[in-house]
Amino acid sequence: VDVGPTREVLSRHPDADSVIDARGKVVMPGFVDPHTHLIFAGSREGEVPLKVEGTPYGEIARRGGGILSTVEATRRASEDELFALARERLDRMLAQGTTTAEVKSGYGLRTADELKILRVAARLSREHAVEIVPTFLGAHALPKEYEGRAEDYVEYVLHEMLPALGPRLARFCDVFVERGFFTVDQARRVLSRAKEMGLGVKVHADELSQGGGAELAAEVGAVSADHLIHVSDGGLRAMASRGVVGVLLPGTPFTSPGLPFPDGRRIVEAGVPLALGTDLNPNAWLESMQLVLAMASYRLRLFPAEAIAAATINAAAALGLGDRLGSLEVGKQADLLLVEAENHLHLPYRLGTNLVQTVVKKGVVVWRALHT
Ligand code: FE
Repeated sequence: VDVGPTREVLSRHPDADSVIDARGKVVMPGFVDPHTHLIFAGSREGEVPLKVEGTPYGEIARRGGGILSTVEATRRASEDELFALARERLDRMLAQGTTTAEVKSGYGLRTADELKILRVAARLSREHAVEIVPTFLGAHALPKEYEGRAEDYVEYVLHEMLPALGPRLARFCDVFVERGFFTVDQARRVLSRAKEMGLGVKVHADELSQGGGAELAAEVGAVSADHLIHVSDGGLRAMASRGVVGVLLPGTPFTSPGLPFPDGRRIVEAGVPLALGTDLNPNAWLESMQLVLAMASYRLRLFPAEAIAAATINAAAALGLGDRLGSLEVGKQADLLLVEAENHLHLPYRLGTNLVQTVVKKGVVVWRALHT
């Protein structure tokens, strides 16, 4: 409704029936987390000591860990179980200032289970204060039953999963483009079909190696390309020219031995709009956008103000919602945080402490710290 210095705002609205005193605090937009794999069953804490020993991902997977172990657990879980697990995570995310979250499928890898995950996302969207943006990620990994038959699995995604989606279960379609996962050509076919169905598209690009994911994102008009640890200069140029948002996810290299952090400064200097997300998943169980801000400032070479913009307005743009979310402006949705700090620099500075004191979603207080 209005933004400005306290005295001016109150003089224009003398009849406000609810006053929240934010003196001495930072007031800012709620965090938009533009990349999560929120809905999964099981957990992989057993991989932490293996990572300490430097065990490569392939070896962890051979010993029964990795994505496919999560797929197994998620296939076994009922819709109600998945809902309960995801809701707890979402509660903690809200308490740490996330007011909107993108949520991907991708731990089902067969039609019934991918649909089950997306129905859980729809139910969360109805029942939880955090706004949910659902993404179909059927091409996340090859399920065991398709081992060595990537082409057949892509056909299955194209001709069975995508048609079964229906019009409202997903707003975006994403593909994991990486050696050992899906090729640029396979991703192009999936994303093109998704676009024909009216979905927006996203790409997991250049995470473990340089694989043409960023170039593909620009070619197909993706709203974002995510990870970008190994992105090429040409890929960045293509993204900049098409306005593709680059989403950096420092939680993954933080938890993956040998994987370097992406260079945020290089991406900003290439003219690519930059966003930040958690990539919350059972390999990198990160729910806090505040911790992402710290990693971004200390390891991605982003100034705190840039990182905050990347975690709010640019993250909203990475979901195609920049006109409605992500900044405090007249006419936009009132999703805002009161932060227990005298300036924004405390957000990356105070490691691992939740500084959020109050969360407002759509103009309503939805969470308050206990001591308030
Ligand atoms: Fe991801």
